[in-house]
Amino acid sequence: MGNTYSPKEMMVAYGIAPKKSLGQNFLNNLEVVREIVSYAQISKEDLVIEVGPGLGVMTGMLAEEAGYVAAIEIDRSLMEPLSALCKIHPNLTIYNEDVMKMNVGACMAELKATYGLSRVKVVANLPYYITTPIIMMFLEQYAGELSSLTFMIQKEVAERLTAKSGGKDYGAITVAVGYFSEPQICMHVGAHCFIPQPNVDSAVVRLDVRENPPFVLDSQDYFFKVVRAAFCQRRKMLANALSNAPYLGVTREQVVEALGKMSLNDKVRGEVLTPAQFGQLSNLLYSVSQKSK
Ligand code: SAM
Repeated sequence: MGNTYSPKEMMVAYGIAPKKSLGQNFLNNLEVVREIVSYAQISKEDLVIEVGPGLGVMTGMLAEEAGYVAAIEIDRSLMEPLSALCKIHPNLTIYNEDVMKMNVGACMAELKATYGLSRVKVVANLPYYITTPIIMMFLEQYAGELSSLTFMIQKEVAERLTAKSGGKDYGAITVAVGYFSEPQICMHVGAHCFIPQPNVDSAVVRLDVRENPPFVLDSQDYFFKVVRAAFCQRRKMLANALSNAPYLGVTREQVVEALGKMSLNDKVRGEVLTPAQFGQLSNLLYSVSQKSK
């Protein structure tokens, strides 16, 4: 049985009951699946990493477009329908693994070399319970290897990834994702397109990975700590939020002085700083923290 059957028919045929704990909301609308694959702009030069192929509805379409597909699925009970798909598509391997524990880098390097592929793209209808960790794992560990990531995610998360500074959706994840990539919302998808239906609406986002960072950082690690501290206490003035974070190693006076150098008021809140301003502030504070060590 391949992907010519609907998810419902496949669940009956293979005796599969969707697991809520693994975020199993299967796509039940082939037109939406085609659109996601089209937004991902896949060619035969691409190695595609699919996270959570589920019943394989999107996996088969990806294999038709890509040079090679590596699909990583944690749920052993889905291996039977997915293995059947491998017989139809010789350019597909299924890994029965937890994507957060697997050595994805080694897998990418091996498949790229074996099949002579030049680019890697990630495509997934992500399990909602672990959306942000998966996105950040790919960006923090593999941004240099990837050209784009196309994800179906919860609509509210998509809005946070693409938010502008100063708005209610703007936060640490906006700054972090924007540092590595240029995100855009491609389409909105209603809950009725899934089986079982989730309680939330969804959106497809594509993150085009930047070839060069948008600003120069003296320490990327320190920058992410500054951003985390700023949004941990987003209702607080930035000078208080940052000086309250012991891992930054700066006093309130030092933060106020750095803000002054940037022509920013000492009462400013983190949510109004643009990502580039966070970069500038992080460089100033990093230098101060190193001197007082
Ligand atoms: N791609 C399929 C679709 O669109 O119908 C299924 C998407 S469903 C929202 C998420 C899939 O991710 C499920 O198949 C689930 O078992 C899988 N999954 C959940 N956690 C995972 C993890 N840590 N590693 C790999 N796969 C995971």
